[in-house]
Amino acid sequence: MKFKVGDKVYVRAGAFNSLKEGVGYTIQKIRTDNSRYPYEISDGSQYPCLLAEEELSMVSDSFEYAALIRQWAEDRNLIEGSDSFRQLAKLTEEVGELAGAIAKGNKEGIKDGIGDAFVVLTILAAQQGFSVEDCIAAAYNEIKDRKGRMVDGVFIKEEAS
Ligand SMILES: [Mg+2]
Repeated sequence: MKFKVGDKVYVRAGAFNSLKEGVGYTIQKIRTDNSRYPYEISDGSQYPCLLAEEELSMVSDSFEYAALIRQWAEDRNLIEGSDSFRQLAKLTEEVGELAGAIAKGNKEGIKDGIGDAFVVLTILAAQQGFSVEDCIAAAYNEIKDRKGRMVDGVFIKEEAS
């Protein structure tokens, strides 16, 4: 069993009819009858949704926060009511603050700048119809098997032959 009761999970697209893909789900019960679908999750109705292990993945805190940030931005009309050029300007501002903090060795400022940039990227992604989680997953899938070497602190990709 990969998950336990109380775990926060991400439900994959098409896993169960009444469940929307995404975060915000918690394992409520685990069936021990050797079913392929042992995990019980609620969709708000009186019937439990049963899911298989491969239909779920563990939610990291950053995934959870991305969902909260999207809700926060939606509540303030920052997704529909703003545009990507404004968010890009904001991202540049946050990256500038991050650069300043790195230059000054200001640890708190660095933490702040990284967090603020992630917030802006989450909103920018949503404006473009993506979730930032999908963007991160796509980026990771692309880099995960990449080979290369470090030269003076820069990673040099090995070109595919
Ligand atoms: Mg800032």
